[in-house]
Order: sequence, then structure tokens, then C-alpha cells
Amino acid sequence: MTSTESLLLPLFASTIMPGEYIFTYLARLLYYSPHSLMPRFWQWPSGMRHVLESIPELVGSLDYVKRNCTWLPAITRCLPNERMEAVVGHFENATQLGLMALLGMSGPRTGWAKSLLARCPVCIKEDLAGDGLPFFRREHLLAGIRFCGRHKMPLHVPCERCLDFEAFPAYTRHAGFHCGCGLKPIPGAEALPAHFAALEIEMSQIVTRLLDASYLPHLNHEGIGRLIGARSQELGIVDGNFFRAETAIKVVNDSRFRPLIERTGIVVERSDSAAKLFKGTKVVRSPLGLVALAGAMFPDWADVERRAADAIPEVPRTPLVFRPPEVRAEARQARINWMSRNGERWFKYYAQKYETEHKLHPEKNHMQLMRLLPHGAALYLTEESLKARGYPVPDFRDPVQYYKKLDKSLSLHVKGRKRHIEKTNCKRRGTKTFLVTGHRMASIYANPEILPHLIETRAALAYCEETKAAFKERMGRTRHVH
Ligand SMILES: [Zn+2]
Ligand SMILES: [Zn+2]
Repeated sequence: MTSTESLLLPLFASTIMPGEYIFTYLARLLYYSPHSLMPRFWQWPSGMRHVLESIPELVGSLDYVKRNCTWLPAITRCLPNERMEAVVGHFENATQLGLMALLGMSGPRTGWAKSLLARCPVCIKEDLAGDGLPFFRREHLLAGIRFCGRHKMPLHVPCERCLDFEAFPAYTRHAGFHCGCGLKPIPGAEALPAHFAALEIEMSQIVTRLLDASYLPHLNHEGIGRLIGARSQELGIVDGNFFRAETAIKVVNDSRFRPLIERTGIVVERSDSAAKLFKGTKVVRSPLGLVALAGAMFPDWADVERRAADAIPEVPRTPLVFRPPEVRAEARQARINWMSRNGERWFKYYAQKYETEHKLHPEKNHMQLMRLLPHGAALYLTEESLKARGYPVPDFRDPVQYYKKLDKSLSLHVKGRKRHIEKTNCKRRGTKTFLVTGHRMASIYANPEILPHLIETRAALAYCEETKAAFKERMGRTRHVH
């Protein structure tokens, strides 16, 4: 901090409130002063140690802030030690690359966890800081939270601009402020059926408790794994060391927490990662996921609290019992014998079905045809076995077929783009390049080895391409209209 800044600060300063999110506190504190203390990103600010240690009279200690004004107490519960250290290090010291991956917040299944500068319209009337301005509560800003657990109502947000701290920091000076747009319930929270809303409220309340480091201290990475592992054994989801997917699916389907499981992106299926999750060898990485999963496996959250009140003992593991080699060899021989007696009959049975589907769907490839057949077909039919017995198998590696398909899809794409340009009165000229943009082959379709095969596409491009004159005229027309 420069000396001017330190001189100015106390004029406007009010201390941080317990439960106030550190980043928005700084935004509130520093709005009226020229500041170098403001981190750029509000969700996972880094390098906070030197900032906080320069204003101890306002924020107390670094430790106080971590416990009371960040999400760290809830987030770090789910992380193994080395990740926890990396995440805390990011907050205190320097930016940690790949932070979202460390937090399990990267990847296709994390879309549910949107971070919004959300606020509860009732809380902002009650939560006033020393300067008389309402502050942002940390539990309302945690990614994926949609309800205020205290007031049992959807969190609210202002307009896009007021939500974009990085671009318009002035619109985020405190939780009650907005540009005049007003506050609306966050998307997806307003129209929920009552029982789902009640679940969301319950989740918010539990997550708020998890933000308190003294709440169930045994519910940490190791404890969560043990708790889920032991419960899976009790429910028969894990039997010895064997994962019974159908039991897991049934338990989750019968649970009232099922909507939360689905919303938090936990997939309960027959897979290696689901097996690890229920055995407790892999731990769900977000506190919301933890609430959903543990909530679905116990009758009530109070049961989770009872189980986690004391240290959670390690789950005893029964080793897998393997059948002796001679028994396995016998079973293998029995399978071979059965196949030699019945294999041909079943092959014919499925191959006929395959042939019928192929005639009905000439555009489908081998894999797609196989998906139309009963599951057992895969035991008998392969591309090779079908070809060997003279059944026609679609082959799109055949260049003639390949170019035909490509020509069809690219020419349709071009025509679609042309319609789009006209409909939206696009400000760009419909050049050839612009017409093919967005197609997977856009960058190489004009390759001299490919283009000659694309007869329809060339015709479509010739027809759809917009000349400079036509473009000028279209733009002129628009100006005229307005
Ligand atoms: Zn509230
Ligand atoms: Zn606004």
C-alpha cells in the first residue's frame, strides 16, 4: 500500500464482519480510495497475506480471515493434504496454476457450480457493517448455493453488468448496491417445486455449518472417506471389496436427496469412479457434493452428525476371495463348450437382426447398428465375423462413402449459414470462408485432394456466396429502414 492509501483508508474504514466474504469486504473498503490492494478475481483471490497483514486493525489476523471470511474451512475438508496446502497457499501467497482442477471444479460435470455475486434480499437489510452498508455473506457466494438458509428464500442477483466485478467493479461496492436494475431471484431457484426448494434450503444450512471449522472437525478428507465407506458396507453397496452398482443406484433413487445428487453432478453408475466413491477411496471434492452424497446415504443429516461427532474408525476391508485356478479353468472350458454347441445358432439369430437394421439405416456405421441390437449380440457379432460369413458391413473408411457424407453435411451447413445471415441480417459479408465457418472441416475442405469430391458443396458455395455489391446493398437496405 502506498502512504497516501494508508492515510486515506481509516477515513472510510470499517472492520470486517464475521461471515463477510473477504474479497467483497475489500471491494467495499477500498471503493472510495485509490487502491493497489484489490485482487483481480473475486472467486479465488490469491496473494492475500501481504494485503491482510497491511491492515490488521481492520481484518484481524490472516488466520481469523481464513476461518471466518473465506470458504476455506468447508472447501479444505474435502481435499487431501497436498491439495489443501496448494489451495491455502494460493490464497495466502501466489497464484496456483490449475487451481480449479485441484478443487475438482474443472471438467464437463461442473457446470452446476456457477459462482454469482448473489445476495439475500432480507439479509442485506440485517447485515450492515460499521459503515452502515450491507455486506456480502460468504455462504451466499459459494459456487452452487442457490438459497439463503436463514431466510429460506432464493438468493437474488442484479443485472449482468452488476454481476461482472472484473469489468465493472464500481457496481459491486456493497451487497445492497446495483445500477438501478433491481434484484431478481437467481436463475433456476425461483420456479423450483417446493420439496426441491426445501432440499436446497437444507443444503445451504448444512454448508453454512460446514464453513465453521469447529463443526464436525472429524469430517475431513480422511473422515469423509471412512464415513462413506462404512455406510456403503452397511447398506450393502460395497460387499467385501465388491461394488454393487444396482444397490447404490437404488439407495440414491429412494433417497429424498436424489435431486441434489443429480444437480451436483455425482454420477451413480457401474463405473470405476463410482466404485471408488462408495468405497471411500475417492472423496467427493466439493462441500455441496458431500452434503448431497452423505445426505442420500443416511436417513437424515442428524445421523451424519452423530456418526461424525467422534473420530470415524477405518472401514475393515475383507479381501477378495479368488476361486482356485482349477475351478476357473473348468468354468472357462464349460463356456468354450457351450459356444461350440450354440454359438453358430445365436450368431445367425443376431446377424439377421443386424442385416435388417442395416437395410433400414444405411447411413449408420457398425457401432451404431450394434447399439440397435440386444446387448447379447456383442458376444457373437464383430465386424470381422460378419464379413467372414458374407454379411454386408457398412464401411465408411471407403473414400467414396466418406466424401459423399462430407459433401452432404458441408453443403447443408453452407445453406444453413446463408439462411442465418439473412435472418439475423449479419453485419459480415457471406464470403466462402464465412459460409463454411463452424463446420468441423472448415479449415481443410478446400484442400485440392478433398474439394474436387465435394460437388454439392461447391454448387452451394457458388450459389450462396455474397458478392461485395450484394452485401453493400443488404447493408444499405438496413440503414434505410432504420
Ligand atoms: Zn437471508
Ligand atoms: Zn445492474
